Amino acid sequence: MPERIYLDHAATTPILPAAREAVAEAMGRWANPSSPHAEGRAARAALEDARARIKAALGWNGDLIFTSGATEAIAIALRGRGAYETNVSAVEHDAVMRHAEGPQRIEVDADGLVSLDHLRAWLDPCGATAFIVIQAANNETGVLQPYDEIVATIRADRVDKEVLVLADCAQTAGRLPLPAADMIAVSAHKLGGPPGVGALLVRDVARLSATGGQERGYRGGTENLPAIIGFAAALEAAEPWLDRAAALRARLETAIVAEGGEVIGANAARLPTIGAYRMPGVAAAAQLIHFDLAGIAVSAGSACASGSLKTSHVLTAMGMDATAAGEVIRVSFGSSTDEADVDAFLAQWRTLKARLRAA
Ligand code: PLP
Repeated sequence: MPERIYLDHAATTPILPAAREAVAEAMGRWANPSSPHAEGRAARAALEDARARIKAALGWNGDLIFTSGATEAIAIALRGRGAYETNVSAVEHDAVMRHAEGPQRIEVDADGLVSLDHLRAWLDPCGATAFIVIQAANNETGVLQPYDEIVATIRADRVDKEVLVLADCAQTAGRLPLPAADMIAVSAHKLGGPPGVGALLVRDVARLSATGGQERGYRGGTENLPAIIGFAAALEAAEPWLDRAAALRARLETAIVAEGGEVIGANAARLPTIGAYRMPGVAAAAQLIHFDLAGIAVSAGSACASGSLKTSHVLTAMGMDATAAGEVIRVSFGSSTDEADVDAFLAQWRTLKARLRAA
């Protein structure tokens, strides 16, 4: 069977060898970190060591609550926000959207960038406490939000208000510096660590309501210590490769545009590992099947949305109609992606286009 090409790293990227070894090693020596005996204390020490290493690697000096991933980190933050008036950007991941009650959303422009005017207009009349969720990079398009400007807008002249900001950094943690948010959600399986582990970084845990259980009462359930140790190892082993990803993506996009394709969010700064492309006239589902049969794994929208192929709320928030949004696929790179992978994808893109023309 010919080797497959994996271009869906934004969904999950393969575990790095150092992280896999660290998990395997940790599986071999076991105890519950909450147990008071010597074995439990050793597990607790290993847990705290991993916590310190992850904080150091991410450059975070606040608290860190281990979770099962970014979804749970977001849920803990949103569950613990009490009576804060809440708003989220219109392009958040479903992990945020499923908690965001009410019709209001912070609008984005045609490139997917949060409207600072709209943010200001929502904040000014709102009560004394507000809670805002904005992602660092979009998981479908790679569009990076201008976090410095967003934070400046939120903090400006609002001495009478307490505004907390949760940044969903599932796609950027370990790759780009963390934004100046009060809380940050991260996920290990997006950065070369094992699945099923992540963290909520919190500047001041007193802002969250404790619910009992582990992690100083902010998360229930025995910590997944082998995965946590693998998470630390992945962050430490990660090598900078964003420049290479940017060059690969530029190669891909030049060819796609030359072939009549459309790059989504092309005018915005984007995380170099993710690109979203529209092939006019071809439904994303047909594209996915074509690429899959040709041995190439890509996705339509986020992994969870692509299972159902529902219309992307991200693309419609950017002003695309449902038909156009339904013709967009996501290509995402990992540290192992090379030019041959990109060229193989392009060859299949051209084959599909030629078939369309012939039809
Ligand atoms: N937020 C974003 C932007 C994501 O891309 C993802 C993963 O798809 C999540 C949240 C959820 O992360 P996890 O799988 O760790 O729960």
